[in-house]
Amino acid sequence: MKKKIVIVGGVAGGASCATRCRRLNETAEILMLDRGPYVSFANCGLPYYVGDVITDEAKLLVATPELFRGRFGIEVRTGSEVVSLDRAAREVEVRELATGRTYRESYDALVLSPGANAIRPPLPGIDLPGIFVVRTIPDTRAIRAWMDEKQAKSAVVIGGGFIGLEMAENLAHRGLAVTVVEMLDQVMPPLDPEMARPVQEHMEKHGVTFALGDGVAAMESADDRLAVITKSGARHTGDLIILAIGVRPETGLAKSAGLALGERGGIAVNAQMRTEDPNIWAVGDAVEVRDIVTGQNMLLPLAGPANRQGRIAADAIMGRDSQFRGVQGTAICGVFGLEVASTGASEKALRRAGVTDFEKVYLHPSNHVGYYPGGQMMHMKVLFRVPDGKILGAQAVGEADVDRRIDVIATAIQFGGTIFDLEEAELCYAPQFGAAKDPVNFAGMIAGNFLRGDQPLADWGALTPEGAVLLDVCDPDEFEEGHIAGALNIPLNDLRALLGELPRDKELWVYCQVGLRGYNAVRLLVQHGFPAKNLSGGLLTYDALSGIQPS
Ligand code: FAD
Repeated sequence: MKKKIVIVGGVAGGASCATRCRRLNETAEILMLDRGPYVSFANCGLPYYVGDVITDEAKLLVATPELFRGRFGIEVRTGSEVVSLDRAAREVEVRELATGRTYRESYDALVLSPGANAIRPPLPGIDLPGIFVVRTIPDTRAIRAWMDEKQAKSAVVIGGGFIGLEMAENLAHRGLAVTVVEMLDQVMPPLDPEMARPVQEHMEKHGVTFALGDGVAAMESADDRLAVITKSGARHTGDLIILAIGVRPETGLAKSAGLALGERGGIAVNAQMRTEDPNIWAVGDAVEVRDIVTGQNMLLPLAGPANRQGRIAADAIMGRDSQFRGVQGTAICGVFGLEVASTGASEKALRRAGVTDFEKVYLHPSNHVGYYPGGQMMHMKVLFRVPDGKILGAQAVGEADVDRRIDVIATAIQFGGTIFDLEEAELCYAPQFGAAKDPVNFAGMIAGNFLRGDQPLADWGALTPEGAVLLDVCDPDEFEEGHIAGALNIPLNDLRALLGELPRDKELWVYCQVGLRGYNAVRLLVQHGFPAKNLSGGLLTYDALSGIQPS
């Protein structure tokens, strides 16, 4: 019998489900409905269209209704909102937005991929002209038109997540002075604060101003300008305001049809993306997913999971047993040439989930060997379980090749890999691409050294321990340039000769600039019977942590 599949939402999850359905079943009738004017558009490219990096709006259209029809035999109706579901009759009610006409469509299988809505808190002034969210092509068109009309010179971005930061970069690219207002005391919430710090500093160097740790209380308009008033009473003015404080899963249809939601408010689905109704599937930003690291449910509004879920729902509809594996939050953002990427759990996410049997290492390797021109330092943090070394998460920030390192670790996490797998990973190397010991190998080796007991680690969170001595093993000129207050300086090269000057009844907490000399010093000291520990990541990590409250 010919199957009829109706898909609500025709972008990341919906479109990949539709085309996969066709590839698996040439006879099915496939109808994709979207209330917007476009399907399959590049949401991820929207900030770059505002910033004039992408200048041709048409380039944002990955596929058109004509292409779906011609190539795939998929019927697409834009401007068509699904307003209700009748589960008993297996029908959806559709409103044609241009005419107001409503009609019903039957289905054998229904797929919900309605995405998420930008959060618009009910604050005074929230509906003023000149305040924009960034979800659709018409949104960006409106932003561009407003900027042109007002000859905009400044903007306030509310929200320091990845969309907020991408918008800040793109507005700055258009010559605007940008202030980012964020309620948390860090940007990029998926990262730990010390890893987010270099991101903020880099953006500040490019002229972006930050007002962190201050929630928005109201928006006002005066003298043809807009102002964001924060809870602390500060006032940030601009010619436009971008609201990027996050999204909420679009669950209206599912809720009104009585479909179960999960504990985080997304549509509840099983591993085949099926809702509790055997004829209804749901995918993308609207669903709740399982975090494979913490085991907890979460919302993860990212394009990769939406696409994979669309494919899995299609498989399930066509009788295949594909299963969604869950998510690990692998993500990347680029700002002013800086790459910011993460995968798995952050330290704060682990603590929130009640996980305590973990350790972390910091490292600051170069993207490729130092002797080849153009090497760029990256900052990495890797979290792993103690004692088995299972990798729990990684974060990296740097100007080159950060994505490769995080992608390798992301793959290792998906395979349940350990720190020892990273030590042994055989990765590409020629001078311009990496190093014989790649940053990924280094991360594994540092963590492996800890797990094998070769390198005890001191806790950055308790930097002035009772009865411990801070030992700086940098050269004297480096020590002069900067050191941790109270540290004793014995350069690594002199350490062996000066062992007699060190106390044996106190722990020695050793550091250098990035952690490598510290490691060598610790090996030397412990073999001579000293209770020595390394401060992983050295002074660079100390600088990033300074001023951040230990969690
Ligand atoms: P969407 O792609 O949002 O599609 C949902 C569609 O459903 C919409 O077109 C909507 O009109 C339609 N719809 C909703 N309700 C109805 C209804 N009742 N009837 C008919 N149609 C309906 N992710 C990344 O991984 N990397 C990035 O760099 C990245 N950048 C982004 C930048 C921006 C500015 C934005 C907004 C998102 C970005 N994302 C990024 C997130 C990514 O785009 C989403 O996770 C992904 O598009 C979700 O796919 P989806 O199918 O669930 O929903």
